Amino acid sequence: MRRVLLPLLLIVLFSLNAQAETYRISGKATYADNTPVALEYVYVECEPGIIDCYQYRGTNAITDTYGYFTLILDVDAEEDDLDIQLSLRGENVTHTIDISKHQNSNENQVYQNIQLEQNPPPSGVFMGFGCVIVLFTLVFISVILRTGRRLTTKQGRMEFMGYKQAKQLQCPTCNEMILQHQLVMHLIVEHDMEPEDAGKLTGTVMRRTWSEEE
Ligand SMILES: [Zn+2]
Repeated sequence: MRRVLLPLLLIVLFSLNAQAETYRISGKATYADNTPVALEYVYVECEPGIIDCYQYRGTNAITDTYGYFTLILDVDAEEDDLDIQLSLRGENVTHTIDISKHQNSNENQVYQNIQLEQNPPPSGVFMGFGCVIVLFTLVFISVILRTGRRLTTKQGRMEFMGYKQAKQLQCPTCNEMILQHQLVMHLIVEHDMEPEDAGKLTGTVMRRTWSEEE
């Protein structure tokens, strides 16, 4: 029994192998004005009821920048003469599978060009898109420049990192750095000044600081 099975299995495997074969459909896709259809998907579609075609439905290939594409199918001998639809940008072209033509071809492929009835999409779409990109880039660059300028100062760097420096004033009497809102109190408490004089002195120090900053 075993002596019979093995050759039988080999025959079945061999015939399966012989039946399926790679079938290449190459072509160029062009618009009505003959410009290439670049970087678009060519899909296999089927006419309703052509059940043998369904296995190929959805098989796709993308066109290159010159409009060239190559679809690769695994076909059986039974699918000779089968009609499939090549769909591109909503338009269909019928391709009839021709296995003998494929076998006899030099480059191991059959040709099927797709000439669309539609014209290429208006380039205005690209222009508009380009403008948005340019605008975005300009805004981005100006933000970078502004940030960069701020980062050249130490205070700018601190603010960039989230620090908000509290303003400090130098006490004119003891030269200690005191927070601005505490200087009046400091003068009164530490240096026994009258509140009015302390206020005036603080005002003087603040004005001096402002003129230094400008
Ligand atoms: Zn002081």
